[in-house]
Amino acid sequence: MRLVLLGAPGAGKGTQAVLLKERHNLAHISTGDIFRQNLKDNTPLGLEAKKFMDAGQLVPDEIVMKMVGAKLSEFKPGEGFMLDGFPRTVAQAEFLETQTKLDGVIMFKVPDEAIVKRLTSRAVCKNCGNVTNIHEHDKCPACGGELYRRDDDNEQTIRERLKVYHEQTESLVDFYRTRNLLLEIDATGMPDEVFTRVIETLEND
Ligand code: AMP
Repeated sequence: MRLVLLGAPGAGKGTQAVLLKERHNLAHISTGDIFRQNLKDNTPLGLEAKKFMDAGQLVPDEIVMKMVGAKLSEFKPGEGFMLDGFPRTVAQAEFLETQTKLDGVIMFKVPDEAIVKRLTSRAVCKNCGNVTNIHEHDKCPACGGELYRRDDDNEQTIRERLKVYHEQTESLVDFYRTRNLLLEIDATGMPDEVFTRVIETLEND
């Protein structure tokens, strides 16, 4: 199965990807994670992407498409994956159509104000990547690892990322609806409630 996880930043795509990965044995490809790993490793790609990430802007299409193209070429026919955070523009979606056939696009719907609330309290485990709430935990509840806040999870950058989402990414909902690939999910509430909706929608489709 080859899926795209679509939705605003903080809609829960990464959290649901971890749950889906276990259930359907799909590789999880997060373009944001790839950029953050490159930044950690101090690669030219990471340093280039940082300017855009810190400003809440999208990394230019050519850079992202080259990176995703290289990643997708590692997959053999029949091997499944979920794309998390890609595509984010129509140009990227058109590019993706030249690279692979998709089985579905899950759209995670959450109102903007709930997103701001989620992201201003989001913490990520340095050790296992688990996402949690900074007001509820001092250490990762899954592995005891140290928690950190993402640089772009401050209110000003969050609002910019949401604006960019509405301007550049939201039109992909129609793009995939017209291709009959769209599966819309109410992504409010706790992760396990959302996951139940995902499974019901995906497995009854
Ligand atoms: P994410 O972890 O998906 O929230 O992505 C973090 C940041 O990485 C975004 O705010 C963008 O600056 C950049 N990024 C990730 N994926 C893409 C993409 N498909 N196109 C452009 N920029 C991206």
